Amino acid sequence: MSETPPKVAVLFTGGTIGMQRGPRGYVPVPGYLGERMGSMATFHLPGAPRLTLPPSDLGGAIHYTIFESERLVDSSNMTRVDWVALAHRIAELHEEYAGFVVVHGTDTMAYTASALSFMLEGLQKPVVVTGSQIPLSRVRNDAVDNLLGALLIAGHFEIPEVVLYFNHKLLRGNRSQKVDAQGLNAFRSGNLPPLAELGLQVEIRWDLVLPPTAPALRVRPITDQHVVALRLFPGITTPMVEQVLGPPLRGAILETYGAGNAPDAQTDLLRVLREASDRGVVLVNTTQCHRGMVRPDYAAGQALAEAGVVPGADMTPEAALTKLQWLLSEPREPEEVRALVTRSLRGELTELSGVVRRSWRA
Ligand code: ASP
Repeated sequence: MSETPPKVAVLFTGGTIGMQRGPRGYVPVPGYLGERMGSMATFHLPGAPRLTLPPSDLGGAIHYTIFESERLVDSSNMTRVDWVALAHRIAELHEEYAGFVVVHGTDTMAYTASALSFMLEGLQKPVVVTGSQIPLSRVRNDAVDNLLGALLIAGHFEIPEVVLYFNHKLLRGNRSQKVDAQGLNAFRSGNLPPLAELGLQVEIRWDLVLPPTAPALRVRPITDQHVVALRLFPGITTPMVEQVLGPPLRGAILETYGAGNAPDAQTDLLRVLREASDRGVVLVNTTQCHRGMVRPDYAAGQALAEAGVVPGADMTPEAALTKLQWLLSEPREPEEVRALVTRSLRGELTELSGVVRRSWRA
């Protein structure tokens, strides 16, 4: 007796993958993605009455349904409202489908993946975010591989996380960053190895995959929040920072140098940070580097901690920003938010444990 094929919901939000060239450059075209996939042997078993991915080395056929957003966008136009709508859509379909593929533009994909990871508490199924640098409408593209891999992962593997699939690599969504504006290897997770690489063989790093965060799915939405990301640069002035941190701001991600350093010789800047954090503004220290973490190694970094800035460990600025927006979306005192920022809630950071004595016996 043959098993019923798993069902995957494809949520199409826009992005290059489903774009065609218009008079002012590439734009997303409604209906195109479904039509194109339905006409390609890679994505549709000929004769099947509904969209059916043919069997592969990873398993049998997969049925999939495309849900297209009313407003298809270049992902530069994605907002928190779109993130919340996506989260609710996933929750509505969560029971019925084995997995989800979110088809998205690459530009803000890492932000959406991070935001979804926080909002989808107790997620039990894979949510695979993907897109491409070259549209599916072009003969030579990266869309086929990315879409195919994402569908296979969503249909055949029980990974209860928001992940990002691109260029044969499966990354944890809230660990990923877009690092190349044109290249096909556009995403990287500097501080966590890929959860899988789809090569000749497919090995999932089950040791890295996290269990569900709660027994059942519940959406905890992000609401409108006054949160900014502020990148330090040599010559940044105290009045600039003071202006940004003024009311009604509730939180700021500071993108600092190296291991979390800032110009500690600029004592007026430290005073402004201290004043903001005394007013209840939650300040988080993340590094501008794509790899490595904020550590209390330097006096220049320690000064920030003394000014009330919370160390963001190895969180990407994308993860830190969406996490802070999300934490502030529920009634919490700043102290509680600061404590939660430093904890790994969805695998978004490596918690620094105290000094542990290591031994060859361990
Ligand atoms: N500008 C596009 C977007 O983010 C880029 C892409 O999808 O690759 O929607």
